[in-house]
Amino acid sequence: MNKINKLKIDVKDFEALKFEADKAWPIEACALVVGKVHDDVAVVHKVVIVKNADNSQVTFSIRPEDLLQVYLNAEKDGLNVIGVFHSHPAPPQPSIRDLEFMKVNPIVWLIMAKPSGNYGAFQWVEGSIKRVTVDLVKKDKS
Ligand SMILES: [Zn+2]
Repeated sequence: MNKINKLKIDVKDFEALKFEADKAWPIEACALVVGKVHDDVAVVHKVVIVKNADNSQVTFSIRPEDLLQVYLNAEKDGLNVIGVFHSHPAPPQPSIRDLEFMKVNPIVWLIMAKPSGNYGAFQWVEGSIKRVTVDLVKKDKS
């Protein structure tokens, strides 16, 4: 995947992630972020909430069958899985474990701290972790 500088996400989609993180607390919530990449901008078309198979307060994992389903649906719509979201009971920074997964899956990692609601987005590129700007947009406003 390209080096991403900006993640454009609709306010409604972002609210859906926040809602899920609140609902799952203190368990980590997770979701897949589906959309398209244009140069260094990742545009979110939808977010797909998935079950945290770990059911854990400190880790998350997604069942392979859930993952496959989201990838297949995205492909059918001409889209890609461009990011992954999860919530943290800690600052919105990748954990050591997250970093290991980021290295093998260098899409955008969107992390939200609970209960503060602070968030950050990151990508592993060219051997290090880079911050991605989150741009909240209102798709419905014309
Ligand atoms: Zn994490």
